[in-house]
Parts: sequence; structure tokens; C-alpha cells
Amino acid sequence: MSLNDTWRQRSLAAVWHPCTQMKLHAPEGARVPLVPIARAEGVWLHDHEGRRYLDAISSWWVNLFGHNHPAIRDALKDQLDQLDHVMLAGFTHAPVVELSERLHALTGLGHAFYGSDGASATEIALKMSAHHWRNAGRARKHRFVGVAGGYHGETVGALAVTDIALFREAYAPLVRLADTAPSPDARTAAPGESAAGVAERAAQALAAWLEAHHEDTAALIVEPLIQCAAGMAMHDPHYLRRARELCDQYEVHLVLDEIAVGFGRTGTLFAHEQAGIRPDFLCLSKGLTGGTLPLSVVLTTDAVYAAFYDDQVARAFLHSHSYTGNPLACRAALATLDLFEQTDALRRNVATAHTLAACFEPLSQHPRVRHPRRQGMVFAWDIACSLPDFARRYARHALDQGLVLRPIGHTLYAMPPYVIDEEACAFLARGAQAALQATLAQEEPGQATVEALRDGV
Ligand SMILES: *Cc1c(COP(=O)(O)O)cnc(C)c1O
Repeated sequence: MSLNDTWRQRSLAAVWHPCTQMKLHAPEGARVPLVPIARAEGVWLHDHEGRRYLDAISSWWVNLFGHNHPAIRDALKDQLDQLDHVMLAGFTHAPVVELSERLHALTGLGHAFYGSDGASATEIALKMSAHHWRNAGRARKHRFVGVAGGYHGETVGALAVTDIALFREAYAPLVRLADTAPSPDARTAAPGESAAGVAERAAQALAAWLEAHHEDTAALIVEPLIQCAAGMAMHDPHYLRRARELCDQYEVHLVLDEIAVGFGRTGTLFAHEQAGIRPDFLCLSKGLTGGTLPLSVVLTTDAVYAAFYDDQVARAFLHSHSYTGNPLACRAALATLDLFEQTDALRRNVATAHTLAACFEPLSQHPRVRHPRRQGMVFAWDIACSLPDFARRYARHALDQGLVLRPIGHTLYAMPPYVIDEEACAFLARGAQAALQATLAQEEPGQATVEALRDGV
């Protein structure tokens, strides 16, 4: 048995993989191969037998500067020699202090509360918001409102504001469901309507909702500029400006979830910069450590912080995770922030995104592509294809092309690490197109109905 086969088999016997119907990996069907990875370097993942795959989705949107980056690796080794971990209640350390100071300087939000993953950042922000209102003598304000198709993580509390039926249905009885306002998704434009027009329409619906419910609402939670898990649904920054205005008007917190879009993905360091606004809570994770270690943070304002600062213990934010502010993860985050400065990453990304856009032009022109779109370093295309399991089939053909690309529903997207070079850009674009052809070839003749072609997804 090959090394790849050995690890595949042992994994399937012992590991329960995330977001996976394990039966699809079963050897009898092997409809989707599990890919054992031995090492990674830059944009490439290497298996045990000399095959390599371009990580075109940055390992679920976490990697920024490529795998195994020497600067991050050196920082981690250095930190390991000094302090592995210490609890953050009653103790502190240089990496967590420095990281908090730097995030403050970058966002204007001066109080940093740490967790270990995105979903816990969502829960921290929601709990803090409701508790803030309670401390402010307005205990009625404990409801939340999200945006249709929003994704904020999958723990039970985060599912309350995650509007994706597939992730939520089985757990509906466990979840205190939040309301949703319409999405400003620019794809929903009426003929002749601009993206800003869609944003204004969505903002008016939000205004109506807040008008009716603000008295018992603590916070609005939004993924700024791109609702990634909804299928890279992009919107005009006008929506964020209006959301800020409305939240001010109705005394509702604005929570921005930049777990996926933060750290340069949208072109600016943080997506909300493009709207010129500041949130009351900012959730960060994924790219925070450059894709090396789990870490999340919720940043908030002096006003929120002040509502907890008191002689009574019960008015404090009594929330904790064992690994809160882990020094190694914080060092990785500091090294990542250094890389933004040292490599002038945001400016270089403009050039990289242009190169990629040019390479992707034939794909964007493909007759089966609807709504080709880009925001910063995120590219997406909706594919008019009649195969219900388009995503799974495409992912498999992409692997054959040496690419990690996993469509969401009928939306194909690419979100590669920033260090992708010209040759890899061309490799990615060629392979993405070839995988599309191979997938479309699996449609039954005549199955590609006129309707599918016309309506896209
Ligand atoms: C990934 C993601 C989360 C959840 O983060 P996890 O670390 O997977 O729990 C929350 N919000 C957004 C926008 C995300 O993309």
C-alpha cells in the first residue's frame, strides 16, 4: 500500500473530518478522495508521493503569506524557547500586549478580548453586546439581527446568527434564532439597478426592521463587503455606511465579522475601511496568525469597556477559554502584521490581483459563467450547470488539475495566498478552466436545460 493510501485509511478509521459526509470518502465509492498532506511550502501542498496541489482557497481562507513562511516559523521557534503558554487571567505577557496595542493602532478599537476560533469570537461579541446593555440598565436589549445568508460560525450560539439552512436545520431546536434583514448582495440587482442601489434597498429594509425592534435589539452583525460562505456574495460599501448610521440612530451595536475578509482579502487591511466607518465590535480570526495557529480576537470601544468596569464582579465580562491569548499564536500574529509592513503586501496585492484577473479572463468569459466578480484578492463565478452535486464533482476535477478549489453550491471561487507568483496564477487559471470543462462534460446530454443556462445558479 502506498503512503498516501496508508494515511488515508488510518484517517478514515480514526478521524471524524469537519463539514464532511464521511460516507463520501468510503473506499467502495471513493467519490471524493481524502488527500493526505505531508508538508506545505508557499502556495503548494505536497502529498507523500510527490504530487502537489496549489492551495487556491488558502486552506479555508486562513493562509495569507504562504505555508511555512520563514518569518512566522522563526518567530514561533523563538517564542517556544521563552514562553509556551500561561493563563491570561491574573497574568500577562509581551506577545498579547504588543498584539493588542498594534490592533488598537490599526482599528481605533482599544480593548482586545481573545478566543481561539471564529465562532467563539462571534459568541464573545454577542454576549458582550447584550451584557453591555444589561449593565447600562437596558436588559430588554438582548435580541440580534443578521443579514440573510450570513455566516458567523457553527457553535450553538453562533448558529443563531448563521443563516445557512444546511448548517442549521438539524440543530434548530437548540438555537435561539436571530432575525435576518435582506442581503445587499449585488447579484440581486433589478435590471438597470446599481450595486449601491441594491445596498440602499437592503438598508431601507434594515431601517424598517430596526424601527420596529430596536427597543429589544442589542446588535446587528454583518460580514462587510463579502458574505463568503453564502457563495462570495459581494456588496457595495454604501450598505455599511447606512448600517452604521442606522445603528447609531437606533442605539444598536454594529458587530462586523471580518473573520474571513480581514487582513487584506478585500484590498484594504480591513474591509470596513472602504466604507470609512468604525464598528462597535470587530471579530477577527483566520488570517490573524497568517494561517498557522488558531486565534481569534474581538476588539471593542471604550464605551463598551466602560460599561463593564465596576466594583461588582458580576458586572464584569466573565467569559474565558483555556488558551485565551496564547503566546505562540500571538507571536504568529505579530509576525504576520510585520509581513504586511515589510512586504508592502496591500500594494503588491493590487498588482497580483490584476495578474490573476487577466489570467482568469477566459474563465470569466465562459458561456456558462454568470456574475464574474472580484473584490480585492477574492474571485468568484456562478456556474450555470445542471448537476446538483456540481461543487463536489468540480473539487474532484480540480484535484486532478493539481488545484485545491472547492465551490460553494454553484459558485466557484478562488482566494489564494498573497504570495502566488505569475506562473502559479497561470497554472491556477488554466486548471480552473480545465476542471470546469471536465465537470460540464459529466452533464447528461440535454440536461443542461435552457433554464439552467439562463438563470445561472
Ligand atoms: C470561518 C468564519 C467564521 C467561523 O470561524 P471558525 O474559526 O471556523 O469558527 C465566522 N465568520 C466568518 C465570516 C467566517 O468566514
